[in-house]
This record gives sequence, C-alpha cells and structure tokens, in this order.
Amino acid sequence: MLPTLRNLTMRTSRVAKDTSKLFDTADATAEATANAASSLPRRSTRSSLARFSYTASTAVTTKEEPLSDIEDALKPTPPSSSAKPTIARLTKRKRATTTTTTTSSPPSKIKAESPSSSSSDFSSPESSPDTKPKTKAKAKPTRALRKPARKTTLPDGSISVSPPTGWEEVYNVAFSMRLPGGAAANAAVDTMGCERLAAPTASVKDRRFHTLVALMLSSQTKDTVNAEAMKRLQRELPAAREGGEVGLTLENMLAVDEGVLNELIGKVGFHNNKTKYLKQTAVILRDKFNSDIPPTIEGLMSLPGVGPKMAHLCMSAENGWNRVEGIGVDVHVHRITNLWGWQNPPSKTPEETRLALQSWLPKDKWKEINWLLVGLGQAVCLPVGRKCGDCELGLRGLCKAADRKKVNEGRKRREVKVEMEMGVEVGVEEEGDVKMETKMESVKKEVVKEEEGEEVKVKKEVVDEVDVEMKAVRPARSARNPKRSE
Ligand code: SF4
Repeated sequence: MLPTLRNLTMRTSRVAKDTSKLFDTADATAEATANAASSLPRRSTRSSLARFSYTASTAVTTKEEPLSDIEDALKPTPPSSSAKPTIARLTKRKRATTTTTTTSSPPSKIKAESPSSSSSDFSSPESSPDTKPKTKAKAKPTRALRKPARKTTLPDGSISVSPPTGWEEVYNVAFSMRLPGGAAANAAVDTMGCERLAAPTASVKDRRFHTLVALMLSSQTKDTVNAEAMKRLQRELPAAREGGEVGLTLENMLAVDEGVLNELIGKVGFHNNKTKYLKQTAVILRDKFNSDIPPTIEGLMSLPGVGPKMAHLCMSAENGWNRVEGIGVDVHVHRITNLWGWQNPPSKTPEETRLALQSWLPKDKWKEINWLLVGLGQAVCLPVGRKCGDCELGLRGLCKAADRKKVNEGRKRREVKVEMEMGVEVGVEEEGDVKMETKMESVKKEVVKEEEGEEVKVKKEVVDEVDVEMKAVRPARSARNPKRSE
C-alpha cells in the first residue's frame, strides 16, 4: 500500500509539518491529492512538497533560513564546549562586520578621533576645528584703528589734545573731492554761499553789511533761496528818501516798513522773526557801531539772531572783516565730523563741535573746513540719502559711518572703467627746414580699483596712433637763402 500524503509529511521536518496542517483544512480534496501523490518518490524533500501548495510556499520559504539549516546539521552531533564559542565568534564576527559597514560614516569616525589627527586628515568644518582660525586670518585684512581726538593732562597740569588718528588723510581725500572733477565739486555753497552774496559794486562798508544780512537770512534756508532773497533786497529795497538809491544799505533798512521787508524775504525760513531781527540790528548798528558791523566776535554775537557760527563766518569772510578767530560750525560741519568719529563721545551741539575742533585742528584750516564740509554735505554726504557709493572716503574705507551696501555697489561700478580719449597732442618736431606737425593718438585709459589695497591705478595704453597731419613745411627759397634773392 502506498503511503498517503499525510504519512509522507509526518516523516519530514517541522517545516513540512506546518505545511501538512494546511492540507488538513482541505479534506474534501484529500483523495484526489492522494492519487496524485501516488506518483511521488518514496522519500520526500522540502522542495518536492512545496509544489503541492502554491499558497503555502511563501511561509515555508521564509522559515528556511540558512542558519537553521546549520543548526539542524549540528544537532545530530552535539557540540563540544569548544564548539559553542566558535558559533558565537562566527555570529559576532558577522555582526561586527555589519556594524562596521553600517556605522562607518565619516562623521562618527572623525568624532572618535583625536582633534589633531582629524584636523589634519579631514577638511570638513566639523572635523577640523583648528583649521578655522587659519581660514579666518586669511580672509580678513586688518584695518588701522582710528581713534577720536583725546585729551591728556600733562605733568604741569596743562591739557594737551591729540588729533584723531589719520585725520589728515581723511581731510585731504575730502579736499580732493571738492576740487574740480571731484564728486563734491560745484556745490551750491561755492557760488551761493553767504560770503559770495555781497554786491561787488557796493562800498566796502556796505559789502560787510550785505554779508551780515546774508548770514542772518541763511539759517534754516537753502543757499539757492537765500541767494534769491538777497538779490531782491539788493534790487528792490526802497530808498530811504526821495531821490535816494534803491538797494541794500543800512539807511534803507532803517527806513523800510516791516511788512515790505517781510514780503521781500518771504521765501526764507522763519522770515517773520528774521524781519524783526533785521530791523533791530539796523538800529543797533547805527547807534552802537557807527553804522558798520561790529568788529569783534562778542559785538557780532550781541546782535539779535546772531550766534557763534554767524559771528565767526562774518568775521572771517573776505567781505566781512577777513580775520579768522574761530571755526564757523554749521550743521554740516557738526554732522560730518561726528560721522567720521572725530569727537568721542559725539558732540551734541555745533558749539561743542567748534570747541572740540579748535582744540586740535591747525589754525590754517579753521576757515577752509567750513567750505570743505558744507560743500561735501551739500553734494555727497547729504543729511538724508548719503551717496557713500560716490564718496572717496567710503570707497577707500576711511569713513566709519559709510553705508557698506552703497560702498560695495560703488566699488563694483569702479572696478573696471575703460575710457577712450581722442585727440592727444604728442608733440612738434623741427629738423632743419622741415617742420613736423602734431599727430593724434587714440588712448585707452583703464581705471582699475583694487579692492584690498583700496588704491586706484590708472593705466594708460596707446592703442592706436593716427597721423592727422604729418606734413613737411619747406620755407620759400628766399627765406632759406636771403642773399640769393637780393
Ligand atoms: S562715506 Fe558716506 S557717510 Fe562717510 S563721508 Fe562719505 S558720504 Fe558721508
């Protein structure tokens, strides 16, 4: 009698037993299966059984692990005491290998290593902390420390004031910007400053009066508006008496109606107050100063509406007394010197700035600095919307208040600027009776701004030479040999 399928499966391994359980649920088909199984070989293997059930194959295959096969193989011969460690070693070695493979990513390895070795072997930021300072040191160039003006008490009790570090360089660069071609050339103050508003045809005494009036009108007023008001006064201020001269004189100022005067200066700031001050001043000048402007700072400051700035500017003006006794510090001088960090702590008022500057600035610059900084403040270093990208001080890293973004934009604009210049005269050559005329060159001018050194290099290169007129001028025979013509 042939063995049934169940009997066959009982003789197989535990895996096969599981498989037979599946067949228990299919009794209705057992007989048919038995017939089919009659063709099976006597000894069943796991693979031969697997073909009986397609649905169970996955589960069976999953349990067929190589390790269990090894265990099965070892069971018949119980392992000796030395054998167990062998398996353990095998397993451990296998695990160890797996662990090494999965955890051998560079960061964990680098962390485990000593800082010295990791820094030399790896360049990642994590792994090389001691390489950071080297990189930083290369990237950041050192800048000169700029100190403000500072006071020192000397052993004898006197006080000495050291000027701000590098002030001369800053001053000279600003000065170059005020010259023709500079970014702050042709500022309003150059043509319409108070010093320039006196009528050139007026008497010396009247010109002094004009300068004083211009200064009194100038506060809180633009130079252009002030110049316009002065022109009106010089043209339209009514004559004091019939047949008298119309124009800006002390006599006419004394006689003019306040309403008329207010209308003439109506465009300047605070014109109502200024009208009163002008009328009061005219009386003071007539009564106390012999109808002239006061010849001292104290006298000038005694006038209504006249402070230290106006007094010093009036005193030093060519059309004033032309004597420099102090610095005329207006809002521009006050603001810009504080931007440069020349006063520390920053001065709070123009008068504080004046005293601070006068303590160290050479006297030959006391008058000039007003022209310098007023023009710079009007053209480049504006109170609102400073043009740091056009300012040499910002571009050369000399101004601590420079707007970095604007400066970087300005530097990029200047990096390479190529200009073509035509018409350069190269010379006249004379040899014997032959005269060579001038010739023209085409010159390529390259202006390169160097970022690090912050120096401007101008490279000129002749790219083309054009002989515009190369003619030999031979004088007439009579001119060459006068005796022959006789
Ligand atoms: S760099 Fe800017 S803040 Fe400094 S002086 Fe020039 S415009 Fe003024």
